[in-house]
Formats: sequence, C-alpha cells, structure tokens
Amino acid sequence: MGEDLLRRHQAVLPDWLALYYAEPIEIVEGHGRRVTDSAGRTYLDFFAGILTNAIGYGIPEISAAIRAQLDTGVVHTSTLYLIRKQVELAEQIAEQSGIPGAKVFFTNSGTEANETALMLTTQYRRSNQVLALRNSYHGRAFATVGVTGNRGWSASSLSPIRVSSVHGGYRYRDAFRGLSDSAYIDACVEDLRDVLVTGTSGDVAAFIAEPIQGVGGFNVPPDGLFAAFKEVLDDYGILFISDEVQTGWGRTGEHFWGIGAHGVTPDVMTFAKGLGNGLAIGGVVARPEVMDAITANSISTFGGNPLATAGAKATLDYLLDHDLQGNAAKLGERLLTGLREVGERYEVVGDVRGKGLMIGIELVGPDGAPSPAAATAVLEGTRERGLLVGKGGLHNNVIRLAPPMTLTGAEASEALEILEAAINSAASG
Ligand code: PMP
Repeated sequence: MGEDLLRRHQAVLPDWLALYYAEPIEIVEGHGRRVTDSAGRTYLDFFAGILTNAIGYGIPEISAAIRAQLDTGVVHTSTLYLIRKQVELAEQIAEQSGIPGAKVFFTNSGTEANETALMLTTQYRRSNQVLALRNSYHGRAFATVGVTGNRGWSASSLSPIRVSSVHGGYRYRDAFRGLSDSAYIDACVEDLRDVLVTGTSGDVAAFIAEPIQGVGGFNVPPDGLFAAFKEVLDDYGILFISDEVQTGWGRTGEHFWGIGAHGVTPDVMTFAKGLGNGLAIGGVVARPEVMDAITANSISTFGGNPLATAGAKATLDYLLDHDLQGNAAKLGERLLTGLREVGERYEVVGDVRGKGLMIGIELVGPDGAPSPAAATAVLEGTRERGLLVGKGGLHNNVIRLAPPMTLTGAEASEALEILEAAINSAASG
C-alpha cells in the first residue's frame, strides 16, 4: 500500500520534490504533538510540518473556528469583498509588529510573502539591488530564489533581482568563525560596508534576512548583529526586511518575532508557516508608505481568504492566550541544555544551537568536517524510535528540532532520550 503510493508519487510528481526517509511515510492523522502514519505507527512530531503546525494537531479551538467558517457556507475566497476575520487578523498583526502605522497584505505562502516584500521595497526605492545573507533561504519563485544564498536550494539563476551576499548567516563555518560575539559583529559590519561600496552602486533597495536561518541549519547570529547592520543600512536609506517565516509567533521563546533579539524594528516583516497551524496563509506587514509604494491594482485571489483567516485568527489567539511563547522559552532551554550535555558525550555532535523551540544539532566526522551520513543516520534512527525530526543546513548535516509550541515537559524528555539513543547508534555505526 505504502510502496504503491510511493511509486505513484515518483511517477507523477517532480524528482526535486524530495521525500524524507529510506521508506517514506504517509501521515494520516494527528493529535496534540503526535501523528500516525498509514501503517498505524505513531510518532512524536518534532518538525511539525516544517514549523507549520505551531500549536499541534486536532486542537479543538482551532478545528471549531475552521468548522464554523465552513458551516456558514461562506468560503468565498476572493478578496474583492470585505472579510471580517481578515481585517481583524491584520489589525492584530499590525499592532504586534511594532511597525508604526503598519499595513498588512495576506498571501498563501512564505515565498509569495517575500516576493511581495521584494516587489514593494524595490518599487519604493526604484532599485533592483538587494542584499541578503549567505546561506539564506527565502523561497522558490523568481525574486526569492535570487536572494536564496544556498546552492542546494537556489533552483534558478535567472532572477531579475541583483543580489549581493554578506556574512552573518552560518557562523559555525563561515570565514569569521571562532571570533567572540562582538568581534564577529564587527567583522560582519565591516564586510557589509565593504560589499556596499565594492559590490553595489549604493542605491540598494533592501536587506533581507532570517533572524535565525531555517533551511540553512538553524543558525543563530549573536544578539545585536542586525542592530549594527541597521545603522549602516540607515545611512544608505536601505530598507530592512525581516523574514519571520520560521521565527515568528513566539517560537524563539525570548521574543514574539525573531528580530526582537536585535532590538530593531524592521521596515517590513514577512510571515507564513505557523500562523495557519496547517492552513496555507502568509503575508507581509510593512510601514504604510512602503506597502503603498505600488499604485497599480494587485491581488492575491486566495490570500487572506475567510477560511484561512478564521483558522489563523484562532491560532494566534490560542498561542497568545496560552503563552506558548513562554512555553517555547522554558522547554527550549531544557532541550538545549539536555542536548548540549548529550553533545559533550559524542564526538559526532559538532554543535548544538538554537533559541526557544528552534534547535539545530550539527553532525560532524572525526575531523570536524560536515557529516551528512551521520545526520541521515539520526533522521532514520529517530523515526525507528518514534520521533520525527527535520534535516537541513548547507551540507545537509544538521538535525532540526521544531516541535509544536504546546510541547509538554514529558514529551521534551521523551524526545531527548530518543535523540540520544539515535545519536549513540549513529556514532557507533
Ligand atoms: N522564508 C523562510 C525563512 C522559509 O523557511 C521558507 C520555507 N521553508 C520560505 C520563506 C518559503 O515559504 P513557503 O515554502 O511557504 O513558500
């Protein structure tokens, strides 16, 4: 049955749509933080659909909100009419953004959100030049592949955006590794200044960054790096886009938005993933003059539709009412501490890093070189033991943990035990 579905998948879906696991699984049901596959096996889910299920599965409040919307029969998707939940959600996100007078535009994905942010900022500044971090991931359409600085994920070189890449992303292995936080920040700022004068004509539209790189391997820059960047960017009038697709909604524990760790308010933020708790919704929140930089009509037919905004509003209310940001901080700290202890015991663990419920484990060989084989062994080993995790990083050697933010202490302990067992067998295999 599973094999037949795999064969059909491979016949009709693109080759580049990679599947996890030597024996890919079909997930058919979920409750809380656990999912069940079509063979009846249950897993604790520590990747949550790449951070989409921010709250978890089968949460009654969310299901009820979506069902109530369905029951009205009003699932009119076009945004040509007033949609109450869309306006309410936009008001809430605008306020939470901290951006004065912010306006919000809803999309269906993170890619579309970043495409919109790039269109708005390039239009506002009348420039097609953009700065991005090395090893970034911002999406899979034409402008966003251009600002994606990771060869494995930049699917096309034909982007119309002119991009210059700067340091500050993958600190563990970049040229400035090994420096103290403040020396690292100074080196990155120096590099930014240098790129501006040697690689651009100065009239750059925007700088785009993930506060913690997601696909790139959960790389955490030192707090304050982006504040130091912003000072330079402000001298040139360059707009700051914070891509909060993975770091938004309190997942990093300390702050509601990942950029909060840097004490700056960006001009534009983009979001997606967790907001819909599984439903497709993304968007852009921006300073009003940037949002309204385009004058032609523009529409996303499905963006901010009644069903998605009803689900998203319920998700946002739930995570605020239950202080899931606080839970992410508390359990994230526990996981990070536990994993660092595990890391001390195994040479194959090169680095454990993260913030809140966004934790990366970088696996290495005896010489410290990236070990994608060890990461694959941990991915398979955790699945065999009933835990789903993610994989990523420039060298595909980073295990990524991002469970639903409703995680319990008992589940965190269970995951720690499974991870240690899988790391142990990867180390000895
Ligand atoms: N930005 C970041 C930081 C992401 O992690 C992703 C998705 N992995 C995207 C943008 C693109 O989002 P989507 O897949 O919803 O288009």
